[in-house]
Amino acid sequence: MTVEMERTLIQFREQFLVFGAPAIEDAEIEEVVASMKSGWLGTGPKVARFEQDFAAYKNTPHVAAVNSCTAALQLSLLAAGLQSGDEVITTPLTFCATVNSIIHAGLRPVLADINPVTMNIAPDSIEKCITSKTRAILPVHFAGRPCDMDAICAIAQKYNLKIIEDCAHAIETEYKGKKAGSFGDFACFSFYVTKNIVTGEGGMVISRHKEDIARIKILALHGMSKDAWKRFGDEGYKL
Ligand SMILES: *Cc1c(COP(=O)(O)O)cnc(C)c1O
Repeated sequence: MTVEMERTLIQFREQFLVFGAPAIEDAEIEEVVASMKSGWLGTGPKVARFEQDFAAYKNTPHVAAVNSCTAALQLSLLAAGLQSGDEVITTPLTFCATVNSIIHAGLRPVLADINPVTMNIAPDSIEKCITSKTRAILPVHFAGRPCDMDAICAIAQKYNLKIIEDCAHAIETEYKGKKAGSFGDFACFSFYVTKNIVTGEGGMVISRHKEDIARIKILALHGMSKDAWKRFGDEGYKL
């Protein structure tokens, strides 16, 4: 086929489609202006409201908002109790943050192969990568398509591994009627400009375990147990 023939078959957009230019409408702009006028710019009541709404959407009580999905992944790996040098099996077909977060947590990334049809991590390849040092599996629901969570959960159970789901593309993803993020010990979401829902920059962790989220909140806040909003809020000053 000649280039000319191809061009007649492809419908071109009138305007260039910008990747990472979400619709920002009046309601969002008003919220930002209201935040600036409230005098409270850091993590505060609006973040708490967002956490509650997200928790309700994902049907879990245990959530923590953080500044990125990368932070969410790194803190999940730390809260999972993994030790320096432990191995985490993940996919090579992902954004580099997935693998970087494993390295930032002092762990060793091991790349399994993908299924060429789904583009997601292949469970049989995960099993081949398991060694005596493997402690966790980090599946990525690539482009919003769910990973084979039945097979991945079965492997995790068989070898006693943690699962940390990278849901950076998968806020609305479901697998067999269950929401992505409800399968693992932890699930991490991104609100960066190119993702499903945007806050400018931002991330969220959900976890099955209350104690793990409590640990993530402390790790995300320099080891402190109460953020400024709680320390200086209406309930009065607390150390
Ligand atoms: C974007 C992305 C991340 C990192 O998200 P940030 O919020 O930008 O840190 C992690 N994993 C995948 C698969 C991503 O696409």
